[in-house]
Amino acid sequence: MAKWILILAGLFIHSVSGSPPNIILIFADDLGYGDLGCYGHPTSHTPNLDMMAAKGLRFTDFYTTGAVCSPSRASILTGRYQTRSGVYPGVFYPSSRGGLPLSEVTVAEVLKSQGYETAMVGKWHLGYGINGTFLPTRQGFQHFLGVPFSHDQGPCQSLTCFPPNTRCYGTCDLGEALLPVFMNEKIIQQPVNFIDLVPLYQEFSKSFIREAAQNQKPFFLYFASHHTHYPQFASAKYTGHSPRGRYGDALLEFDGSVGELLQAVWENGIQNNTLFFFTSDNGPETMRMERGGSSGLLKCGKSTTYEGGMREPAIAYWHSKIKPGVTSKLASVLDILPTFASLAGAPLPNKTLDGYDLSKLLLNGGESPRNTFHYYPPSIDPAKGIFALRFGKYKAHFYTQGAFHSETTPDADCHITAGLTAHDPPLLFDLDTDPAENYNLLKGGRVPKDLEPVLNMILQERDRFQNSMEYGESQTNLGKDPSLRPCCNPECTPKPNCCRCQEGRSQK
Ligand code: MG
Repeated sequence: MAKWILILAGLFIHSVSGSPPNIILIFADDLGYGDLGCYGHPTSHTPNLDMMAAKGLRFTDFYTTGAVCSPSRASILTGRYQTRSGVYPGVFYPSSRGGLPLSEVTVAEVLKSQGYETAMVGKWHLGYGINGTFLPTRQGFQHFLGVPFSHDQGPCQSLTCFPPNTRCYGTCDLGEALLPVFMNEKIIQQPVNFIDLVPLYQEFSKSFIREAAQNQKPFFLYFASHHTHYPQFASAKYTGHSPRGRYGDALLEFDGSVGELLQAVWENGIQNNTLFFFTSDNGPETMRMERGGSSGLLKCGKSTTYEGGMREPAIAYWHSKIKPGVTSKLASVLDILPTFASLAGAPLPNKTLDGYDLSKLLLNGGESPRNTFHYYPPSIDPAKGIFALRFGKYKAHFYTQGAFHSETTPDADCHITAGLTAHDPPLLFDLDTDPAENYNLLKGGRVPKDLEPVLNMILQERDRFQNSMEYGESQTNLGKDPSLRPCCNPECTPKPNCCRCQEGRSQK
């Protein structure tokens, strides 16, 4: 009798609490608001992401914290603005001394403490440091396969793209390291072979999912794609298959990776207990013209605090748990850590967090606790603080600045020639009626009577936020040391060209 009571009690507890969900976080690179089929692009082929959008929750007002790569990666992993972790200004390089401080608590560490298996695949870009001090394996990921940097931070034009012996298009950072591929903390390939890279990632991810499922362990997989950052590349299976050219091929391969992750989850029968969350780190690099992405109807792109730089596509998909729909509630990469922690039943880190738990929004179609969002530029200066503030449907720009990365489109506000400009009163837009930021409500600096209360609340919120912000020491300003660039054959000369290995073996 007692045994049966225990079994029934166990079943009851299981049905109330459920087992912690597996989580697959998919992060695209430099993919803009207008780049996916499900966000309206006419020639992008993204059937897997489109399926997730159709059967999951698609966000219209989802924000990343950085208009360039490293800060948004810091925020998605820590639930904090990059100002707190010191991942500003700009980004990390292979020779950077700094990285995401080890004192930060990542979502991987939060989930690992709850018994999750954790793995990261792809682009890290949160520092390397002395002897790999800042690698993902030091930040809560038990497994890592990927490149610690952005894939344009090496002499990419000397690398091969498909077809074999074809030079990758474009110029990258010639003076930096030949790009290494790491397995955990060991270089397994240098320089990276772009033709085989994504298939390698897919095999690794599928085997990680299979093993965790077989061992009945909850898992967290952070799949940070190099796609669709410039320069564009794709494996043989995807090259030449998109009507959108090289960018479309890269996007097709990215979407294909998503399809393989979905398939792996289904094959292992864990689809009812696996959350997929997809978004992108920053807006498109329009300076690359047709080889860069698109922010759709939004203004400008990468490196700007206009909507095109920081509003991103985002999809939450959980078979049988999340109801299909579209939400215009505000949300951000900042909310990832608190939301995942809540779903896993994990305590929050003892840190000041800037994110909110969105689990009610995901699972019950509830409200978003977020009503504001603060836009920092890539070159953060604490004396200036935020450049813009989203307050409900309104957005106020206190500063605007164009950027090299947002060149080539007809809008001159996006270009590098549009210098830093202070606005007092701010430029004010109603993003519900004007998401493209075309029509300033305070034209000529005049504040209409009916907007005075709104403007006052916006200024109060700006001051409250700025006064409460505690800036961490800048980690990107700690300087560079060329000897920190990883080399698979450390004794060789001359560097970086002699750093060539395949599967750990040095090559002549
Ligand atoms: Mg990026």
